[in-house]
Amino acid sequence: MEGIKLIRDDGLRIDGRKPDELRPLKIEANVLHRADGSAYVEWGQNKVLAAVYGPRETHPRYAQRMDRGNVQCRYNMAPFSVVDRRRPGPDRRSIEISKVTAEAFERAVLTEKFPRATVDIYIEVLEANAGTRCAGITAASVALADAGVPMRDLVAACAAGKVDGQVVVDIGKDEDNFGQADLPMAIMPRTGEILLLQMDGHLTAEELEKAMDMAMDACKRIGTVQREALTKRYSVKSNGTGPDGGGNDG
Ligand code: ADP
Repeated sequence: MEGIKLIRDDGLRIDGRKPDELRPLKIEANVLHRADGSAYVEWGQNKVLAAVYGPRETHPRYAQRMDRGNVQCRYNMAPFSVVDRRRPGPDRRSIEISKVTAEAFERAVLTEKFPRATVDIYIEVLEANAGTRCAGITAASVALADAGVPMRDLVAACAAGKVDGQVVVDIGKDEDNFGQADLPMAIMPRTGEILLLQMDGHLTAEELEKAMDMAMDACKRIGTVQREALTKRYSVKSNGTGPDGGGNDG
């Protein structure tokens, strides 16, 4: 399909980024005081909030697992998060993203530590501009750590893709619309274990390898920003200058 020019004559991308450059990323932990854990992520023009509850007893009881707990996720896009008002409520896409996100965290969370209980993750996309599943996973991971949910490692997510024949990371909206491939990936930065890998479009085997390497490297950088957000949250708490020193009010 004929699209717009995504790599400029100076070799930079349509928004001026280098191939391996992320959009600006800001993460804040512990932003909601009713939830057990929370995080807010601004990533380019994406704005995403994640809230975590639990572990708390699984209802209904037949869904309880005796040897381990459950991880549930609801990803939701606000009606005002996209250019045309989105019809509220779940759609096929948000059901799919909720499912793959829960599956990613099922592997990262130490569910064996809380049998018969469930951790609920809520991801609310306030503004969307491509990459919201990755922003949601990145936020949810910080919210889980903020809630004190035991995990093997943080989970960081970022998409790679192909635009004008070139492999790049952190696909923006125009790149998503007019590019040739989009490959969101979530990993545990410490081990590099892949928890989510999806792909739209076309890549050669070589390009796929390069895209995965670049996404992996980007996720490791994102992991550093996540750890900084958590360090900041706990240093605020120990100074006694935080809002209330924690979200777990009962
Ligand atoms: P992701 O947000 O993880 O990249 P997609 O590739 O499915 O997921 O979507 C890309 C972008 O398309 C979203 O970030 C959002 O900006 C836009 N988008 C998704 N769903 C809708 C919708 N129902 N209406 C308008 N725009 C949407």
